[in-house]
Amino acid sequence: MGGVSSLVEKGSTVVLKPNAGHVAPPESAVCTNPDVVRAVIREVKKAEPKRIIIAEAAAIGCDTMECFEACGLTQVAKEEDVELIDIKREKDLINIPVRGYHSNISHVKLPRFLLEAEHIINLPILKAHASMVFSCALKNIKGVVQDKVHLDMHRENLTMAMMDVWWAVRADINIVDAIYAAGGFSPHTPVPEYIGCIMGSRDPVAVDRVACHLSGINPDEVSYFKVAAEVGLGAATDEEIEVIGEKVADHAIHMWVPYLGDMSTRWPEYRILCENACSSCQALLALNMETLKAIGEYDKNTDAVIVVGRKDSIPEDIPKERLILHGNCTRKWRDRGLFIEGCPPAEGGLHNTIIDRSEMNDDTATAEDIERIVTRKAATAPVWREYVLKMAEEYHRQNG
Ligand code: SF4
Repeated sequence: MGGVSSLVEKGSTVVLKPNAGHVAPPESAVCTNPDVVRAVIREVKKAEPKRIIIAEAAAIGCDTMECFEACGLTQVAKEEDVELIDIKREKDLINIPVRGYHSNISHVKLPRFLLEAEHIINLPILKAHASMVFSCALKNIKGVVQDKVHLDMHRENLTMAMMDVWWAVRADINIVDAIYAAGGFSPHTPVPEYIGCIMGSRDPVAVDRVACHLSGINPDEVSYFKVAAEVGLGAATDEEIEVIGEKVADHAIHMWVPYLGDMSTRWPEYRILCENACSSCQALLALNMETLKAIGEYDKNTDAVIVVGRKDSIPEDIPKERLILHGNCTRKWRDRGLFIEGCPPAEGGLHNTIIDRSEMNDDTATAEDIERIVTRKAATAPVWREYVLKMAEEYHRQNG
């Protein structure tokens, strides 16, 4: 790709943006492997930059420094003598307008050091993702914003907001850690799978499309490629992409990504009205329905009718406590059922609403609701983990 000196100028500031958004060890494949980050640092040093910074704003609810520690980046930064910055703690922020924004994000507050850096190197890991189906280069740049912006992004249209952030912070190059990828119900319940590749591109969409093919995902099933094409962020089709180096087909695997499939028929005991829904809401549907099964709540709640995606009408005859409205697309029916806010909503919102039969949005959740959900999550975590591993085993028995 031209070598590091074609990318990095002597005396410049280089920001490395790995995926270090969760408290997860390297072997989980949820965060960019520290050896990949170390290799990039050593390469960048050859160009003699003034500063090398590893920066991240971890997922909402996660402490970035704790994430750095768990995924091995604190040690890498120390040993390689580079700076480690938690974007969430940055005070020196600039509120910049997003020219021609497409989402609710007309301005975005970003750290000065990031905006003033001469180079940004995006270092994602390839993984399945609960609220996006799939996470790689495009999604990784979402981790440059603080929690307030992050929450705003989720409120209206996350995929489009992600594209808007890209226009504000464009990485010079994207280097993907696809040595081990996290399949399964990643990022929270990952099942690591070996691919053994590193990929690079200046085009984040192109590298993400190839990452899909490498892991056996059909990019047409991931909504955000359509959005990226709409805003012209990168390659809109495979035909526009030239792959140099190893052949994708020689390394492609059937990664287990349970966020895909026919959502209307997958849980026949339930009435699920899922049409015109983005892959994000479909992924969350899969996560929550399987959670119900794992924790023994599936058979108890088959009276629930679940609505997901844009619909012109919904059945008239369903009592309010049985009608579960998932996501902002269903907001117009809010007074007819139990509405779960978000675009997409929070990850466990659906199964908790189905079990508790009460609305728990920002404006309606009580302290007891939150306490109950946290306690349930902790109590059911081991059984859920075991369930996921069995599902993964079964998948690979059938698909290789
Ligand atoms: S709420 Fe609607 S627009 Fe938002 S992710 Fe879900 S299906 Fe897509």
